[in-house]
Amino acid sequence: MTAGTYELMVRNGTLLIPGVGPMLADVGISDGRILAIGENLPGSASETLDSRGKVVLPGIVDPHVHIGNEMPFADEAHTETRAAVLGGVTTIGVFLRSIKDSYLDHLPAFRDAIDHGSYADAAFHLQIFTDQQLAQIPDCAEQHGVRSFKFYMSGIPGIVPSIKDDFLYEGFRKVASLGPGAIACVHCENGCLIEHAHADLIRRKPEGTLADWAEAHPPEAEALAIQTAIYLAGRAGAHLYVVHLSSSDGLEVCRTARRAGADFTVETTSPYLGLTSDDPIGFLAKMVPPIRDPKNQTALWDGVKDGSIDLIGTDNTSRMRASKRAEEGLHCSRPGFPVLGTHLPVLLHFGRKRGMSLETLVDRACRIPAKIYGIYPQKGTIAVGSDADLVVVDLDLERVVDAAYLNGMSDFSPFEGRRLRGWPVATVKGGRIVARNGEIVGPPTGRYLPRFTDQVETLAGAPAAANAIA
Ligand SMILES: [Zn+2]
Repeated sequence: MTAGTYELMVRNGTLLIPGVGPMLADVGISDGRILAIGENLPGSASETLDSRGKVVLPGIVDPHVHIGNEMPFADEAHTETRAAVLGGVTTIGVFLRSIKDSYLDHLPAFRDAIDHGSYADAAFHLQIFTDQQLAQIPDCAEQHGVRSFKFYMSGIPGIVPSIKDDFLYEGFRKVASLGPGAIACVHCENGCLIEHAHADLIRRKPEGTLADWAEAHPPEAEALAIQTAIYLAGRAGAHLYVVHLSSSDGLEVCRTARRAGADFTVETTSPYLGLTSDDPIGFLAKMVPPIRDPKNQTALWDGVKDGSIDLIGTDNTSRMRASKRAEEGLHCSRPGFPVLGTHLPVLLHFGRKRGMSLETLVDRACRIPAKIYGIYPQKGTIAVGSDADLVVVDLDLERVVDAAYLNGMSDFSPFEGRRLRGWPVATVKGGRIVARNGEIVGPPTGRYLPRFTDQVETLAGAPAAANAIA
């Protein structure tokens, strides 16, 4: 290929580059990578995406996604990533769940499903429940490049079993043994406090509302578990990643521990930032941990803005309205909802109301998730040498959320009926336009992203070249 000839040029957009800020520039792309960035970039391209008047963000990296809860993994890997890329999410961190089996038996099929049907690229996190799974952590890392593992201090009745603190501690030691870059993700809630609170709630409020659900998962259960996890991870030398922080109390524990020198990562989710427990959507918004009141939500926004919360995911768990069973009331409806397609619009819409800058958005939703999971600067930024994953956003476009538009498998959204301002109008994944003006265009091109130690080091070792602006 001659110099200055590109397969795709994204022209005239305002790029939001993490750590650099907004700049009006063109992006030249070939072979799935960004080859050049510059104002009035010289050269020609086979295809041009004019982004005048729009902002261009790095493809969103959603670190927290569940796939295959409702339909087979391969089916959801197709439908839910369709919703993802339409919504600007080009990379997902998928929590794989096998309650009993060895992951070594199933990882090839999971990888295959991503490589042959996903629109987004995907890294995997393994949820660890058994002694065998615990023992095989090093094998999963070595053979499949999985370097993040999840532990549920409190399970979800009927869906996920709980583990005990000794198992968690052993898990931390195993993760620590993998060396730098390995992550122990923990669902932090104290099971004993929840059991008691839930039994009490059923007695007091057999009917109940979405707001009452928060009483079954009190903030002190989250705060206490975070404290335990920080302590045990610190003793084991593991990097703790607190998933889906939901409460002000939990956030205060994190802040206090950081002031005392603890080093760990804190995630919250876009549903917690966009929904409150008084939302008229009711049980369609039932989740674990629960959607909380406006006071807790304001605390989370403050945490996002001041950096106490490092990054934002979705905790997407797609369900159909029928299997959500919202009409069966508080105690019988099931947790989880499809939120991949609304992740970026929710952050844009509510972020503007909360005074969050776009620079902070791309930091929390692109750069930091990619860094934490060892895929930066391949993902999470707009840089020469990085994968050409971009999302073109119309900040003024307003749209009322409806499930059909979102294009996943589900027939509802917890945000349905809400008018959100700020939507993607085009998504580029791996150098190809995969979504445009609300439509999927082109075939799925997702790839599994293994994270081997040497690969992480290679990427981290080339930041100067990767960040060069042509
Ligand atoms: Zn989750």
